[in-house]
Amino acid sequence: MQNFITTVIGARPQFIKAAAVSRALKSAGVYEKIIHTGQHFDQKMSEIFFREMEIPRPHYQLDIHSLPHGAMTGRMLEEIEKILMQDRPNAVLVYGDTNSTLAGALAAIKLHIPVIHVEAGLRSFDMKMPEEVNRILTDRLSSLLFCPTATSVENLYREGFQHFDTEIIHCGDVMYDAVLYYLEKAKKSSTIIEKLHLKEKEFALATIHRQENTDDIDRLEQIVKGLNSVNEELLVVVPLHPRTTAHLQKINTKPEFKIIEPVGYFDMIVLLEHCKLVLTDSGGLQKEAYFFSKPCVTLREQTEWTELVASGCNHLAGYKAEEIFKKYIQSMSKEGDFSGKLYGDGHSTEIIAEKIKRKFM
Ligand code: UDP
Repeated sequence: MQNFITTVIGARPQFIKAAAVSRALKSAGVYEKIIHTGQHFDQKMSEIFFREMEIPRPHYQLDIHSLPHGAMTGRMLEEIEKILMQDRPNAVLVYGDTNSTLAGALAAIKLHIPVIHVEAGLRSFDMKMPEEVNRILTDRLSSLLFCPTATSVENLYREGFQHFDTEIIHCGDVMYDAVLYYLEKAKKSSTIIEKLHLKEKEFALATIHRQENTDDIDRLEQIVKGLNSVNEELLVVVPLHPRTTAHLQKINTKPEFKIIEPVGYFDMIVLLEHCKLVLTDSGGLQKEAYFFSKPCVTLREQTEWTELVASGCNHLAGYKAEEIFKKYIQSMSKEGDFSGKLYGDGHSTEIIAEKIKRKFM
């Protein structure tokens, strides 16, 4: 039987990471089957990434979404297990910190199939975040841990991972590889700047989608007020996540900033290139702001990407309107240090693919 690995993905940031890694796996001659859990399912949150970024079509499409955490993870676990029992891949590859990540890892380990975790070792130290629970458990279930940063390696050592049967590899961040590969293509094909009439305009790019910000009405209201006040000085453009759109109806403050539908990766990196700064609660976007040397105001109390705060590129604002405006002013007046190679040299996907080939093929 052919040697292969199975990749489990399901959410937007995983499509972007998988796009970069799948390309490297193919070049290394590693055959991959993809399971798409369906966690993100619509055209703008899923299909566009597969098309634009030329991600191989999934072999399995599970269509599991819009459920509470337990039900979603449980149903994924059940369905992924069935596939793995039948296919018996050499290893299972998972990314990041979503329910799809945990379900993939858990299904595999129970069948004694080794788990590979890309974006291992990140910690926010906030167990109320579903992502933190998912990433800690997934790390513990994995036998190959690919860490994007020095801090993520340190986190694993502090938790005693050197005593487990795991290999820890500091490879850099696959999202940096993705930007380097796709930026030229994006610039050629995206028309978002013209479409939104942003050509001669200065603007801030913002996203809000973390559950702790969207599901808590007070927090969401404060964030909207904060973005409104920034918008009085600098146009704020917000490609809005469907979850946030649903919750916005419940608050009393009207958003004054420019809301657009979620955009594809190509439009997003073109917006990043043109914007003055980023305001976000997204993990991925904090790093992308750094890749483009743009200051970032983070709409959370803590971040897994602590090196960005240390280098003065990222300003943690939390959720309060006043604080968001204060950090906006601060970020525009004080230049951070964008010169470090915090996320590697753009070859992390090759390191990952070569290692997987040697270990599992
Ligand atoms: N992104 C995108 N379109 C959007 C918003 C975000 O392509 O409308 C990209 C963004 O550039 C980054 C990734 O999605 O590469 C981040 O995903 P998200 O914020 O959903 O998840 P997180 O990184 O917080 O896990």
